[in-house]
Amino acid sequence: MPDAAPTRKPLSAPQKAMHKLGLVRDIDLALHLPLRYEDETRIVTLRGARDGQLAQIEGTVTNNEISFRPRRQLLVTLDDGTDTCTLRFFTFYPAHQKTLAVGERVRVRGELRGGFLGWTMVHPAFHAAGGELPDALTPVYPTSAQLPQAYLRKAVASGVQRADLSETLPPALLGGLQAVVRGTWTLRDALRYLHHPGPDVSLDALEDRSHPAWQRLKAEELLAQQLSQFTAKQERAALRAPALRAAPGGLHEQLLGVLPFQLTTAQRRVGEEIAHDLTRQVPMHRLLQGDVGSGKTVVAALAAAIAIDAGWQCALMAPTEILAEQHFAKLIGWLEPLLAPLGKRVAWLTGSQKKKQRGEMLALIASGEAALVVGTHAVIQEQVVFKNLALAIIDEQHRFGVAQRLALRSKVGVAEDGTEQEPHLLMMTATPIPRTLAMSYYADLDVSTIDELPPGRTPIVTKVVADSRRAEVVERIRSQVAQGRQVYWVCPLIEESEAIDLSNATATHAELSQALPGVLVGLLHSRMPVAEKKAVMALFTAGQMGVLVSTTVIEVGVDVPNASLMVIEHAERFGLSQLHQLRGRVGRGAAASACVLMYTPPDGGRLGETARERLRAMADTNDGFEIARRDLEIRGPGEFLGARQSGAPLLRFADLATDTHLLEWAREAAPVMLTQYPQAAEKHIARWLGGKAEYLKA
Ligand code: ADP
Ligand code: MG
Repeated sequence: MPDAAPTRKPLSAPQKAMHKLGLVRDIDLALHLPLRYEDETRIVTLRGARDGQLAQIEGTVTNNEISFRPRRQLLVTLDDGTDTCTLRFFTFYPAHQKTLAVGERVRVRGELRGGFLGWTMVHPAFHAAGGELPDALTPVYPTSAQLPQAYLRKAVASGVQRADLSETLPPALLGGLQAVVRGTWTLRDALRYLHHPGPDVSLDALEDRSHPAWQRLKAEELLAQQLSQFTAKQERAALRAPALRAAPGGLHEQLLGVLPFQLTTAQRRVGEEIAHDLTRQVPMHRLLQGDVGSGKTVVAALAAAIAIDAGWQCALMAPTEILAEQHFAKLIGWLEPLLAPLGKRVAWLTGSQKKKQRGEMLALIASGEAALVVGTHAVIQEQVVFKNLALAIIDEQHRFGVAQRLALRSKVGVAEDGTEQEPHLLMMTATPIPRTLAMSYYADLDVSTIDELPPGRTPIVTKVVADSRRAEVVERIRSQVAQGRQVYWVCPLIEESEAIDLSNATATHAELSQALPGVLVGLLHSRMPVAEKKAVMALFTAGQMGVLVSTTVIEVGVDVPNASLMVIEHAERFGLSQLHQLRGRVGRGAAASACVLMYTPPDGGRLGETARERLRAMADTNDGFEIARRDLEIRGPGEFLGARQSGAPLLRFADLATDTHLLEWAREAAPVMLTQYPQAAEKHIARWLGGKAEYLKA
């Protein structure tokens, strides 16, 4: 595309469609690679053809008729001198009959089927015979309805011609690259080749992307990703944050003293990693990952204690009000008695707060009297002005988008000497990030892992049962409740319609209320007014409610140690990580706990193989890392990253499962390139990421 001129013509429909596909710059077109290829370079003879072969044949039309049995169709017979082939068209136009009239010589291309009645091709591509055969395979590009393949092909070809494909890699790094891609391909060679490979290529190597041209391209893409991550890290290193140190006898020590349990070794280790980050003048950018129930909250509270003790404020943000409330209750229980003597308080902010109360909280936060602020998205709103925020903690970070993380970080504090200070950022997640993802998408993040559960937990037993055994499940609930235990029942997630979700939950609620007389059965769903949700949660938390029927609002963070049974209806509709999160709601106390994954086969059928395999994986392991790894295999990285909400560009070509060697090369090359060849690095990032690099910084 030429650059935007001041008097710009309106875009044509195919141009608009190209923009929609992100094909704006020449380089975008050059990097738009074929989905597959068609071989128009040779003509095969029918006598030498194989059944099922994609073939181009040339011959003379010997018959052309419209048949009405079994349905209306155009039948054309083609004779290539070695055999004949019937061409079938179920939709056709006058042009078909003209080009394919008896006596015409034509070239047709399609899938050959050999059968009892001889060769046939259904809906082949065709044109009049003659013209030179191309000397390269014909590329077929991913496209959309408004963008004809032929138009796109031309646009890509000229994009490849015009784009600046000069080498960005300094000679010092080329040797290493050529060793990992096994060849001396330049980007230009690789792209020209992949758009128009010669006829002798192994289509397999192109298709599975193991061909050196593909390898070169993927290595470049990974390098761009690593470069932008290292850049983000460098930029962050130039920012200033308050250096915070735990004082002997201070709040941190006092909090440790009042906890009703000993920290696990893992909690102590990650606590030290965080505490060390806080002593630095560079903003922390750390992810704390730990399986459900591993005790991340107390680690966060200890970090908060360090910040507060040093005279600064701390904010803790959770994705839902219920979760925020839980943190609030726990943190108040632990911290408030310790804060009171210092004249400090805990404040909280949520969307549903009354105006007056909110006003009071905002004043507490602005004056600095609120040393700890707990809440939902409300914490990052513009009106919230901190006196001196030093530490921002985000729970269940994958639920938040980049914009929200950036907003939280923009709440800068001011040090006593008047300088602006960025807050330290601690993100927490129970969805562990598999190693390859941590190395690529999260390369600019420091990661701490809690790899041990607090002692005294009994492992959760997971059972996979068909919905037809519902009555047995209800019996099981009855016996758990009779033993004083509590039960969650999670209703299906039907993404398209919240209304159906709700009607399912309501029906199940009615069913269980009837089946379990004398047991208080509660209902929780996302459309309930907040006050009502809180009332239901309070009853369940206090142990008065035996069974809680819920849509997935309880997915994250709810903590009721007395709950010992989790029933998930239509488990086949949930993602693995989500199932694992839900299962983690039980097994939090000493009681033996169980999770029942109930599935409903499609009408009259059996559950599909993948679905069954996924549920089996859940029954096989309680290890969050293993589950995350399998989830990544099944669903790809998009789901992990919440890419749609974050806007982070996903890798288009590289596949983390197969390209680890390229990723490792890129990780080593990126810092060298950035420090020794900064201009080349900048050019490389611009080429590959265009305007998208900004997103990666959050
Ligand atoms: P998560 O990591 O899923 O956020 P929580 O922080 O909610 O886990 O902790 C789960 C439960 O374990 C809570 O009831 C918490 O008080 C308790 N807990 C945390 N650490 C320990 C420990 N070291 N020993 C015993 N119980 C602990
Ligand atoms: Mg938690």
